[in-house]
Amino acid sequence: MNQTLSESKELLFNKAKDFCEDKGVRFTPLRAKVYQILLQEDASIGAYDILDKLKLIEDSAKPPTVYRALDFFLELGLVHKVESTNTFKACHHFGCSHPVQFLICDTCGDVKEISSEGVKETLERQALQSNFKIMTQTIEAHGICNQCQGTGIS
Ligand SMILES: [Zn+2]
Ligand SMILES: [Zn+2]
Repeated sequence: MNQTLSESKELLFNKAKDFCEDKGVRFTPLRAKVYQILLQEDASIGAYDILDKLKLIEDSAKPPTVYRALDFFLELGLVHKVESTNTFKACHHFGCSHPVQFLICDTCGDVKEISSEGVKETLERQALQSNFKIMTQTIEAHGICNQCQGTGIS
């Protein structure tokens, strides 16, 4: 079942499974399938695209099946929502709460999660000045990825 995942993604898959076990929540076979679909994508993926892929292996899958699984993963921090495109992306360093910063390529759809402590600190400092308590931070930057910049100019 895991043969379509690269070695590093398979490690992440097992890590997620252990993470759920530690938390006492169930990493059900269905959740595992949804998570695998998310892991296979380098781009972020919309709920209905997940459903299309899930239906190939689980023909009884319905939209609520996917939404329930996504809510489960979002709550645990295993998956992030990309708000600006209403899509989802597996987090590669879950287990700690961290600000979410995405570099989103508008040409190929690739989504890269980065972690910039400087951005986090600046935002927190300014929030403090306004006596504002930050609960979550998500920064989404749109542009053209390295690979797409290189195409067509050779
Ligand atoms: Zn993350
Ligand atoms: Zn690109």
